[in-house]
Amino acid sequence: MDVGFIGLGTMGLGMAKNVVGGGHTVVGYDTNPEAVAQHARNGGRAASSAGEAALEVDLLITMLPNGAIVEDVLFGSGAAVDNLKAGALVVDMSTIHPLETDRIRQRLAELGHSMVDAPLGRTSRDAVAGTSLIMAGGTPGDLGTCRPVFECIGDTIIDCGGPGTGSRVKIVNNFMTTTLNVLTAETLRLAESIGLDLDTAIEVMSGTPAVRSHMTTTYPAKVLKGDLTPAFMIDLAKKDLDIAIDLAAKQGVPLTMGDAAAGLSQGPGRRPRQAGLDGALRPLAQDDELSRRASVCSHATPCPSPSAVGRRTCRQKARQKHLQYCRASLDYGDCRSAKRRRRPRIGGPGGSAAGDEKRRPSVE
Ligand code: NAD
Repeated sequence: MDVGFIGLGTMGLGMAKNVVGGGHTVVGYDTNPEAVAQHARNGGRAASSAGEAALEVDLLITMLPNGAIVEDVLFGSGAAVDNLKAGALVVDMSTIHPLETDRIRQRLAELGHSMVDAPLGRTSRDAVAGTSLIMAGGTPGDLGTCRPVFECIGDTIIDCGGPGTGSRVKIVNNFMTTTLNVLTAETLRLAESIGLDLDTAIEVMSGTPAVRSHMTTTYPAKVLKGDLTPAFMIDLAKKDLDIAIDLAAKQGVPLTMGDAAAGLSQGPGRRPRQAGLDGALRPLAQDDELSRRASVCSHATPCPSPSAVGRRTCRQKARQKHLQYCRASLDYGDCRSAKRRRRPRIGGPGGSAAGDEKRRPSVE
């Protein structure tokens, strides 16, 4: 098959090489001339423009950073569609917004061309090894046309259910993987901060839904079968979550995902604390996260004290202390009552509290 390939980057270069290896002719283009040169060394043909990569091909594959670039390459400055022969199929394997996918499909249809959205799962290593997972969205006929090329690129090809579904499932997938990555970072940071051996903690969690995932254990066993009867009471789950948040607060470890989860189970009228990717990942990379978080908390979050006097006192006397109390009081309750609370010291497993205190960061 004659294939045009636009976007020879981290993913595309290896993918194109594997398509060449499958016996297809691959005309490759990238704005980076070195990538095009490498494609030629890999046995492909070099194109000097997107339009040239589209000439006389049966399939035109795009593997580009975002939807705006895909659109520009096809219809804008690249004008690749102008050179497509009748019946040529466009296969966008980039990760883009599904509504952009729909618009591109519509524009191609108006010009008489079909489109398959087929983003990749897994990693750049898999792209090089030809072991990617392909989430294919297209008509059965178009997917059949793509199959010989897809088989060079991946070892798992999933028909996601029609045009646009590949792009959609990719975003759902990446929502979960990115969120879980933040949660993983927080979890390991918490484990480390309370003196746990990470290998042991990972071994333990690998035997529970923490790592085995609710998606493949509890949901198919129960929820997805329509069984919504309680199995683990929310109050008990909340108790455990609150303990983790308390431990983390005492160790100075921000748990933004934990805060968000606790906020969801608090019901209306109670707000989760600041949540976000930045707050979760940054503590692994730098130590000043707490001070950044402190300024976020004390400036952007209103003091939870019910009275004006309490609020003024908090602001004037001890902004930093206030933050600590807020963090230690699990529900953002009145900082004055939290102040009266005595917080126990945390001893690591098997170690003396005094010795461990030296190693651990503390908000005390
Ligand atoms: P990349 O930035 O390494 O490669 C993109 C390539 O496109 C670059 O070589 C760039 O020069 C080229 N390019 C940019 N604008 C161009 C234009 N107008 N004309 C021609 N070439 C142009 O990105 P990547 O990691 O290969 O990712 C590509 C797509 O695959 C993205 O949508 C990404 O979200 C998705 N993806 C990436 C991974 C991964 O692990 N890297 C995994 C799955 C999916």
